Amino acid sequence: MSENKKRESWLTKNKRPIVIAGPCSAETEEQVIETAKGLKKTGKSDIFRAGIWKPRTSPGSFEGVGSKGLPWLQKVKEITGFPTTVEVAKASHVELCLEFGIDILWLGARTTVNPFAVQEIADALRGVDIPVLVKNPINPDLALWNGSVQRIKKAGIKEVGAIHRGFSNLGEKYYRNRPQWQIAIEFMRQNPDMPMICDPSHICGRRDILQDVGQKAMDLDFDGLMIESHIDPDNAWSDAKQQITPKVFGTMITEMKLRHDYEDNPRLQSKLDQMREVIDHIDEEIINSLSNRMAIARDIGTYKKENNITIYQDKRWNEIIDKTKEQAKKSGLSVEFILKYINAVHDESINQQDFIMKKKEKGESK
Ligand code: PEP
Ligand code: MN
Repeated sequence: MSENKKRESWLTKNKRPIVIAGPCSAETEEQVIETAKGLKKTGKSDIFRAGIWKPRTSPGSFEGVGSKGLPWLQKVKEITGFPTTVEVAKASHVELCLEFGIDILWLGARTTVNPFAVQEIADALRGVDIPVLVKNPINPDLALWNGSVQRIKKAGIKEVGAIHRGFSNLGEKYYRNRPQWQIAIEFMRQNPDMPMICDPSHICGRRDILQDVGQKAMDLDFDGLMIESHIDPDNAWSDAKQQITPKVFGTMITEMKLRHDYEDNPRLQSKLDQMREVIDHIDEEIINSLSNRMAIARDIGTYKKENNITIYQDKRWNEIIDKTKEQAKKSGLSVEFILKYINAVHDESINQQDFIMKKKEKGESK
């Protein structure tokens, strides 16, 4: 993997991607130390993670060893030199982490979702100089994610980063937490100077697609990765299915392709600019066509109003869906994508007609 030194941040300094690895949970001193040594040997990890307090979805699951695990992380630092990071969910966790010299704190998805908890942590951080990473909330709510980051920043923390770990979704089978990349991309657009880490382990919930998801994050220009790694993953006390051995982790990071920034190469840039010009032109045409389509929808609305015809007609809508699906297939477009598109267009078309229907004509009584 080559290194892209273009975009620097407090977290990445001159290295991209920055890699955080370690077990889901600290279980025993031996498990923590052996995992850390294994990760050190790969030469592919930069920061060591371990959950000490585990906010679990259901009661009865392993909820972490608690503060007795903190000295184990101090030992990791002594032996490997890795800075350490731990999840905090309340003020007392912050205090203990500071006491035991933890280098970076992170807020988990089940904490980001709760403004009271985030505020409690922010208050405990006032006057403290420690970097903080904020995972996205469990639900796809960009404002809640941003809100948590703001609370931490308002407490005076200067080094704040984000972690994308996907969003829970009823009925989702492929991922444990659906990535919904567009939310992370929008977060990055709104917070251009904040490092963004991807956590493929919690997105995937399984080992076989970790590489793909990690690679996608790299291709989307994320700054780093957080990967759960355990010396004996099958027997892990939490998240066993998604953890990988340090050796597998090493191979995974080695095989990751880090594509370079096109701005480094004027030849690539001009070719890309040419193609983007074509794309911009096509987008313009699509918008013009949509505008024409909506103008006709309004005319139809007027006609329906004059003739007392309902806006929505079942038969017509079914015809449109069938025709559009057929056309999508013929044009090599994904049917799923085209259905999303035509649904959005149809929805807007109904809104436009509804507006016409409700519009009062001059002289019309209220
Ligand atoms: C974790 O990192 O082990 C964890 C609990 O993650 P999340 O908050 O993303 O569920
Ligand atoms: Mn985990």
